[in-house]
Amino acid sequence: ALLGLDVAAPEPSPEQLLARRDTHFATVQEHYYADPPQIERGWREHLVDTRAQVYVDAVNNVATTGHAHPTLTAAAARQWSLLNTNSRFHYAAAVELAERLAGLAPGGLDQVFLVNSGSEAVDLALRLAMTATGRPRILAAREAYHGWTLASDAITTSLGDNPRALETRPDWVELIDAPNAVRGTHRGPRAAGGYLADLDAQLAGLDTSRLAGVILEPIFGNGGGVLLPDGYLAGVFSRVRALGGVCISDEVQMGYGRLGHHFWGFEQQGAVPDVITVAKAMGNGQPLGAVITTRRIAEAFAAEGSFFSSAGGSPVSSAIGLAVLDVMAAEHLQENAKAVGDSLRAGLEALGSTYDVVGAVHGMGLYLGVELVTDRASFAPATELAERVCEALLDEGCIVQPTGDHKNVLKIKPPLVITAESARFVVSALD
Ligand code: PLP
Repeated sequence: ALLGLDVAAPEPSPEQLLARRDTHFATVQEHYYADPPQIERGWREHLVDTRAQVYVDAVNNVATTGHAHPTLTAAAARQWSLLNTNSRFHYAAAVELAERLAGLAPGGLDQVFLVNSGSEAVDLALRLAMTATGRPRILAAREAYHGWTLASDAITTSLGDNPRALETRPDWVELIDAPNAVRGTHRGPRAAGGYLADLDAQLAGLDTSRLAGVILEPIFGNGGGVLLPDGYLAGVFSRVRALGGVCISDEVQMGYGRLGHHFWGFEQQGAVPDVITVAKAMGNGQPLGAVITTRRIAEAFAAEGSFFSSAGGSPVSSAIGLAVLDVMAAEHLQENAKAVGDSLRAGLEALGSTYDVVGAVHGMGLYLGVELVTDRASFAPATELAERVCEALLDEGCIVQPTGDHKNVLKIKPPLVITAESARFVVSALD
């Protein structure tokens, strides 16, 4: 038994599973491994594959409370046994989750729509901005990731020069420069003022009477975890508001306590949005997302049409969402993200004094990025090295993934329950 689990080889065998995987299971998700593990189960920040190898899950995309948390298991089982689905009438779990989310959002943002994913939350947020203003145009930044649905994909450019996205980008999208203060279009550090001056020039050339709003990630996640220059988000929001537009903070990746020092990403920038999108962390992997906005915007949207999602905020998803918040409070997970995140960051920065290929450490709390470069003078992305490092880390028992426009940033994003010991293990494996 490993980690208290029975990890006896399951049926089918790993080899059979691998052979079957490529027959019908259609995915275009990338992985970087010659022999990718088939994960069978998890426990807190650990994963176990079908060959009984144990890994520290240092890049979990969704997990707040970690894998197989007993409080979530119990909440899901209880709600499933009471009421599984009934999306046309109000039910306690969804109402309570909306109340709790409204309580976590800044004052005035107290209307909550429940959906199934981050992409859906982004789609809905864009629709809210468009209907509340009666205008079609959305500003979005290059190097951002907002999702896979038609609308969220149209404002996603972090997947590199995706020719399909470029060809099909609808005319309601207006892209602005990525405020990548490390290595953007402008190369080298740049303060917010430079980006904001460029934005002013761009806005001067636009018909801003057609501007519905702006959507930004408070820290560019798939863009490499690079922090926005101080004052950037507040500067963009004040400009868009002055033009009558709606300001959306896409908190799907950074929000919900992951940054440790802040619950929401926009707090790190001292800015307040009109609309928040959240998903991933709030369901700890269960399909669950939300759009949180003001009564004025929600009512303007309601006056225009209807919103209905068959499974959005289902009783089971909502019960899990409530259990996530309970565990976060009981286990002080935001505080853990701060303490473990800060020491993890210090450990990664220390590697920078040993290895020249560490160009920079980005991010905050438990969203950290180690940017690998060929040398610090040119800051040229070491993309191939990043892949090789991820492959080597797998052998060490640690799952990490490259991200960023050049896929040269090691994304380190463990569940918020990660212990200091597991975080030290990540640093030593990387070393
Ligand atoms: N927005 C951001 C900032 C994200 O990082 C993601 C997913 O990575 C999404 C939206 C889309 O979320 P989902 O994958 O749940 O549809």
